[in-house]
Amino acid sequence: MAVRKIRIFPDPVLRQKTDPVEEVDEGVRTLIADMIETMHAAPGVGLAAPQVGESRRIIVADPSSGEDPEAVLALINPVVLNAEGSQTCEEGCLSFPEVEVSIQRPERATLEGLLPDGRNVRIEVEGYLALILQHELDHLNGVLIIDYLGPVKRDLVKRKLRKRQRVEA
Ligand code: ZN
Repeated sequence: MAVRKIRIFPDPVLRQKTDPVEEVDEGVRTLIADMIETMHAAPGVGLAAPQVGESRRIIVADPSSGEDPEAVLALINPVVLNAEGSQTCEEGCLSFPEVEVSIQRPERATLEGLLPDGRNVRIEVEGYLALILQHELDHLNGVLIIDYLGPVKRDLVKRKLRKRQRVEA
């Protein structure tokens, strides 16, 4: 297992269309283990494969922030079957340091996907976990938190992050 480098906006991989996982093999399981370790090290409560440079449909989440090993969830090729209700939260993103965006999302969702052992699952989630999983699913479609902002605020955040990138280069 290894902590991988988290890609920061405007890294182009964050906008790429992701490929579905054809076969859940050892390579996929290693990637998932790395993603979980990277998420915990950040620290964060969720991570999508494009954020570590892998344009594949894999997400991980841990609403317990590393407190409860049983709270860790990894989903391969996740799809939302049903979503309802509404919740609004200030969301951050590991690919957008020091940025928070108020986003309205469904309160409850039913998702389907594959577990790291290859089994198909259907899960019903609500509240915080529903929010995390929908945020990570956005990443698989190249959708980022700044897309929920109006054009003026979005430009402001983009300028801030480009400046930060220059400073770190
Ligand atoms: Zn994110």
